[in-house]
Amino acid sequence: MSIEHWMFFGTFAQKDFFEYPQQGTYAGVILNANMVAHAPGGLAAFLQEKRAGGKYLIDPLTHAFQHDPSVISDGEGETKSSIRSLAEHYGDPILSLAGKRPLRPKDLAGGALSDVVKNCVAFQREYLPANMKETDAAKYLEDQATQEPYAVVAPYFFLTEATVDHWLPLCVDSVRLTRAAVPPDGPRVFGSVVVSQGVVTDRVAREKVAQAFASTSADGFLLWVDNLDEQSAGGSELAGLMALAHALRSRSREVINIHGGYFSVLVAGAAGGNGMSGVAHGPEFGEFRSVVPVGGGIPIARYYVPKLHARVRYRDALRMFREKGWLETADVFHESVCNCSECQSTLGGDPGRFTLFGEGNAKSVRRRQGIVRIEFPTREASQRCLKHYLQWKRREYVQAAIAPKDKLLLELVEGAQLFEDVAGLDGVAHLRLWETVLKG
Ligand SMILES: [Zn+2]
Repeated sequence: MSIEHWMFFGTFAQKDFFEYPQQGTYAGVILNANMVAHAPGGLAAFLQEKRAGGKYLIDPLTHAFQHDPSVISDGEGETKSSIRSLAEHYGDPILSLAGKRPLRPKDLAGGALSDVVKNCVAFQREYLPANMKETDAAKYLEDQATQEPYAVVAPYFFLTEATVDHWLPLCVDSVRLTRAAVPPDGPRVFGSVVVSQGVVTDRVAREKVAQAFASTSADGFLLWVDNLDEQSAGGSELAGLMALAHALRSRSREVINIHGGYFSVLVAGAAGGNGMSGVAHGPEFGEFRSVVPVGGGIPIARYYVPKLHARVRYRDALRMFREKGWLETADVFHESVCNCSECQSTLGGDPGRFTLFGEGNAKSVRRRQGIVRIEFPTREASQRCLKHYLQWKRREYVQAAIAPKDKLLLELVEGAQLFEDVAGLDGVAHLRLWETVLKG
């Protein structure tokens, strides 16, 4: 069974990577609703160009309105324009509350949820197709010029252990109302299960959420566990994620982890009992994400170390490969680290050229303590790292779908053994933990 490889749309600068390393790599693209509201023309054209990739979904991002208004405001304290545009599509009570105070469950009582659902469904089904009609490509595509999303995602709210009893009934109602608003010949209907790590580790809360969603008539689910970094997560978080995915997968419904890494890819394959139908990440990593957005930080060059299934700071990767003697010749490097086409062309037979993955420019940046010099990766270095990463992601999805469980698990242990002397026990611990969790 293949594992669907979904990719999150980030910025237009990355749009060419949705056909990288080849056309058809990705099952589909996930768009954030605020971007759809903000740049519908550009996204409509993007989807038409990348039609070969097939499907798309819109994450309705309704949870954005339940947080403190500061979460959705720009630097000046105004609501971000893309979120404001989205609120206009969703109507009241979201529109009148956005930026003023957080949305509460009681704001959605007495028919208000039904209005939001109707507006949200119409937005997902109609807004991009209407914009697709206006693009230049529409002339050539004629009758296939417009395309609805693969599934309509029901409005949803973020569930924590403390709030699950209040928001969960609304999430379930929202799936029911979405189903009622989409005709049988329309797109599929997905629920969205967005929970804190506390919910996945608390068996009672997790089962309550799983049973409530599984009892709906949704055709599938998007799954997102807040800020679950699979490389630093504990065993109970990983086991909880896997248990939740399996519970939602009942009646072989689709379950897509919308921010997942290699552990999730393994869960989706034979190694994890096909607990997910697909996993999404962003072109620039994005294998985990906070529900409440946090600042970006300074970009640094990171090289994906295939056998560690981890993106490692370029300088650390360089040190490890040197200590291992893997940079003595290009052949040794390709045999021991990576033989992808990007690494082959970057090295061009010279292992010294591995430094091109870490190329940077020092720029002056104003900080609290004054002007400081900070090195930023060059655009070329970032693209090399990205291409190498995407080639490996593709291999991982393909491998995890076809390889037997014992082979995949053995490969994790072998990776840990191989790297322990240079990466340290902590640097390889995630591999052994994944193996233990998947075996259990
Ligand atoms: Zn490579």
